[in-house]
Amino acid sequence: MKELPQDSLRDKGLRRKLVQELEAKGIRDKKVLEAMLQVPRHLFVDSAFRELAYTDQALRIGHDQTISQPYTVAFMTEQLAVKKHDKVLEIGTGSGYQAAILAVLGARVYTVERIRGLHLNAQKILGLLNFHVRFFYGDGYKGLPAYAPFDKIIVTAGAPEVPPALVEQLRPGGCMVIPVGEGDQQEMRKVEKNEEGRVTEKNLGLFRFVPMLENKV
Ligand code: SAH
Repeated sequence: MKELPQDSLRDKGLRRKLVQELEAKGIRDKKVLEAMLQVPRHLFVDSAFRELAYTDQALRIGHDQTISQPYTVAFMTEQLAVKKHDKVLEIGTGSGYQAAILAVLGARVYTVERIRGLHLNAQKILGLLNFHVRFFYGDGYKGLPAYAPFDKIIVTAGAPEVPPALVEQLRPGGCMVIPVGEGDQQEMRKVEKNEEGRVTEKNLGLFRFVPMLENKV
């Protein structure tokens, strides 16, 4: 028998404080803040980091990867402007936390991960929490052509460039948020495709991500 995940009053209290901190740092979208209030981030990190789960920092999740900083998750999700029933592709499932936030916002989430251990773990935790997300194991650089087009795409690993396959899989009127750059820091870009199919890019500032790796599954 699986134990039910624990979400104590203390966890809820810490979560509320974190959300206030995110608001103070400039996150305005009430729905995003509400989703961050709902998802128990401590269940997505190793129990050794439980005390740090509600601090605004990235944490190790094994396999040399990290769960993104809460501010980064909130910022990217806000930029994505997810609407109920939007079909959203996430590249880099990692812990599954970002996928859970998208699911709470009512998106139909498709998420791809190239490390099997993380892929399986995220499936387990989201299953326990009853979030419905579609999981794929493989190289997200190519996207998921069989399920395209997507209303929104979010890439949660630093990419050397905007992958052309992902731009192709974006629905006209849709957008993608993606950190680009191979060094220490990445430039957060918003790629928009208008109804005529014309693609434009905006720079949203500097962030720090683990790298997106191609063809290394
Ligand atoms: N969204 C995650 C953050 C994970 S960190 C969360 O909420 O926890 C980025 C993840 O991207 C890592 O798990 C890494 O293995 C994965 N990744 C990197 N390159 C990838 C690729 N080409 N395809 C799929 N996943 C990739």
